[in-house]
Amino acid sequence: MFCDLHMHSTASDGTVTPDELPAMAKAAGLSAIALTDHDTTAGLPACQAACETLGIAFVPGIELSVDPGVRPGEEHDAPRRGTLHILGLFIRHDDPGLKQIEHRMREARDSRNPAIVAKLQELGVSIDYREVLDLAKEQGTEIIGRPHIAQVLIRKGYVKSVQDAFTRYIAQGKPAYVRRDRLPATEAIDAIHQAGGLAVFAHPVQLGLTDPDELEYFTARLRDLGLDAVEVLHSDHLPALVRQYTQMAQKLGLLTSGGSDYHGSRKPVDLGSQRVPFAMYEQLFQARRRT
Ligand SMILES: [Zn+2]
Ligand SMILES: [Zn+2]
Repeated sequence: MFCDLHMHSTASDGTVTPDELPAMAKAAGLSAIALTDHDTTAGLPACQAACETLGIAFVPGIELSVDPGVRPGEEHDAPRRGTLHILGLFIRHDDPGLKQIEHRMREARDSRNPAIVAKLQELGVSIDYREVLDLAKEQGTEIIGRPHIAQVLIRKGYVKSVQDAFTRYIAQGKPAYVRRDRLPATEAIDAIHQAGGLAVFAHPVQLGLTDPDELEYFTARLRDLGLDAVEVLHSDHLPALVRQYTQMAQKLGLLTSGGSDYHGSRKPVDLGSQRVPFAMYEQLFQARRRT
């Protein structure tokens, strides 16, 4: 038996609607799934209803983008690390604290995108924020981000690909880059706990700490802030990393999790592709906060 505890729907940047995911999960032979959209719980009710109809265990989740800081708890102005994402699993999706964070993240994003477009205009790129909004609407996404801006740049012939748009204009350090206000790790973990959820360190490889000792130190600090688990199985993790992260989680007394990080047709990753053992779901289910 298998599960998949990390996937995205059209409520954030996936291409499959929340109510269609469970049928795909069933076809892929999965017995439990978590929907973990970026900074939103909007898709959870529809996904839950479809899971119930199909007899699949449903884990309400969210994926929060967090300030990687210098160390967790010591957020820094100029992060020198990669991406830090924290998954909340088994959350109450109507929790007021989490709603407040969703609102805050949305505002940070909403002010950031027009600022990026303004910088592009200053660079002589003919782009209007309206075009970005229209494209997102076309794709049925509620959350607008840099990938949408990149796609408008492709359509208008300024760049060849999304990657090209990032390397030339909108990646960190590039001329149209705008820093986003980031959520401190401690607030993300606390909000997930307040909502009855478990906090999971998502895809540690994306943090960009290649030295295992440094990563372990970083993860231990997250544990001190209340982290519950490490996502060891993920589409970006080669077998050697899965072993490394599993050992690290054991050593630090943390649980393990896993998922595909499915985004529909946006990324070449299949739903359920990580063959995450159902026992991983069961262990997390046992550990969840019953409130
Ligand atoms: Zn992520
Ligand atoms: Zn994700």
